[in-house]
Amino acid sequence: MKINTPFTPAQVQVLNERQVHVDGSIPIHPSTCPNRGDGITYDAAGNADDTVAIHGTEGGDRGVLIATEIGWVCPHCDYRQDWAHAAMAERPVPVGEMFKDFPTIAEIYGAVRPEELNPLIVNYRAQAAQGRPGAEVMWFCLELRRMTLAGNMSHRVEEVER
Ligand SMILES: [Zn+2]
Repeated sequence: MKINTPFTPAQVQVLNERQVHVDGSIPIHPSTCPNRGDGITYDAAGNADDTVAIHGTEGGDRGVLIATEIGWVCPHCDYRQDWAHAAMAERPVPVGEMFKDFPTIAEIYGAVRPEELNPLIVNYRAQAAQGRPGAEVMWFCLELRRMTLAGNMSHRVEEVER
């Protein structure tokens, strides 16, 4: 099952949260650019030299694509993709809820803290300042996610205080 462009704002939000593992679900390998190896060279021993790699690691992996309303875009080259797997665009059940009877698993995977998003936001703001395709969309998605998480946290505190 696939979805095609235009992606809705809700789909863009879910896809981007999943790309950088801030959606609270089990981390999966993000959709990455097929050109992400460009510029990386290897010596005879197989050691990679990525000093002139074209694709950055601002999303936690090299060449993480960004979902936008016109589809996936690569912030580092002109790669575009006008479809996504439908399952990836649906908001997942947070692992913390799936395994709420197993506190250890919930602790390992479950709760995303809002401050965990800060370095990603710094990275994508910098990319947006350079005019990289999609970077501003990712930055805004991360800001929205951080606000949502912060709201949930304060709600949780209120419950404890009651
Ligand atoms: Zn690319």
